[in-house]
Amino acid sequence: MPERIFNFSPGPGTLPYSVLQEAAADIVNFKNTGIGLIELSHRSKAFMAVAEETETLIRELMGIPSNYKVLFLQGGASSQFFMVPMNLLKSDQQATYLNTGVWAKKAIKEAKLFGRIEVAYSSEAITYKRVPRDDEYTVAPDSQYLYFVTNNTIYGTQFPTMPNKDAMLIADMSSDILSRPVDVSKFGLIFAGAQKNMGPAGVTVVIIRDDLLDRVGDQVPTMLKYKTHAEKDSMFNTPPCFAIYCVGRVMHWLKQMGGAAAIEKINRDKAALLYEAIDSIDLYRGHAEKESRSLMNVTFNLPTPELEAQFIREATAVGLDGLKGHRSVGGCRASIYNAFPKEGVEKLVAFMADFAKKNG
Ligand SMILES: *Cc1c(COP(=O)(O)O)cnc(C)c1O
Repeated sequence: MPERIFNFSPGPGTLPYSVLQEAAADIVNFKNTGIGLIELSHRSKAFMAVAEETETLIRELMGIPSNYKVLFLQGGASSQFFMVPMNLLKSDQQATYLNTGVWAKKAIKEAKLFGRIEVAYSSEAITYKRVPRDDEYTVAPDSQYLYFVTNNTIYGTQFPTMPNKDAMLIADMSSDILSRPVDVSKFGLIFAGAQKNMGPAGVTVVIIRDDLLDRVGDQVPTMLKYKTHAEKDSMFNTPPCFAIYCVGRVMHWLKQMGGAAAIEKINRDKAALLYEAIDSIDLYRGHAEKESRSLMNVTFNLPTPELEAQFIREATAVGLDGLKGHRSVGGCRASIYNAFPKEGVEKLVAFMADFAKKNG
């Protein structure tokens, strides 16, 4: 077994190898303290410094204005589907949602428990193969926020630019946070499960404008109020220490890579190689419409499910792992997050050409 193969997994996804090595050493003996990283008290000076550094790096890399809080929460990105409306919406108030995939649809289902939800756009009938342009939907003037998913992990679609609407934006950025620069000041709240582009599973990063913290009603349980965690710097209870540490190391790596703008160039480059193969080789068909194509998750089909299974099997055999599409859509999906190396994309493209020659 080789030490490292190319891992196209959609999540948890590939992390920088240097981060894995650092974490492996720190787990056993954190910075020569004689205590393993995952044994450290979350109130210790050593861990408080880790959490602080992680937050500082996220702020720096995303250019987060000072009137925003950065929270480290648990419960996965999926818990944000209900925490957002639970904290920000009253039952007689309206919010607008864009239904661009399963993660959006799940968020809509939860939001309906808390307020009046207007689904202003849906691509469900066309298997979510595109995201809307601004002129394809409207946001009611009294809508409290416009909720959308920046990158639809399962379908391989991504908003090429953020919606330009007269509304407070709220985004699930789980699968493309920090893959490109974003103007945080346009958002009321951004959240992301770390396990795709920021670190391991176990922590969800929430970035929230501080004036929104007080919107929450009295009936909301303490642990489910953003305000609770904001007031205690995410230390109201034991935070996911190891995941926060890893996110910090990934942020450090990203900073060394040149930050969000630099990684976007690399991401564009990687994705272009794959889309070019899909467009130029007859055996492959992209799932997403061109204008909606994701730089993070590249989805494609072969003529039959049998050929797809063979493709995935043979790719796995040569060290190209995790290419099976999500069970709800089938086909193939190459997830090429920030830390996924370009050499892996080049190897996949070569494999695709070779496979087409033999089976086309
Ligand atoms: C993976 C994913 C989720 C779900 O994340 P969990 O942490 O497993 O709850 C939500 N939204 C998007 C866009 C995702 O890619």
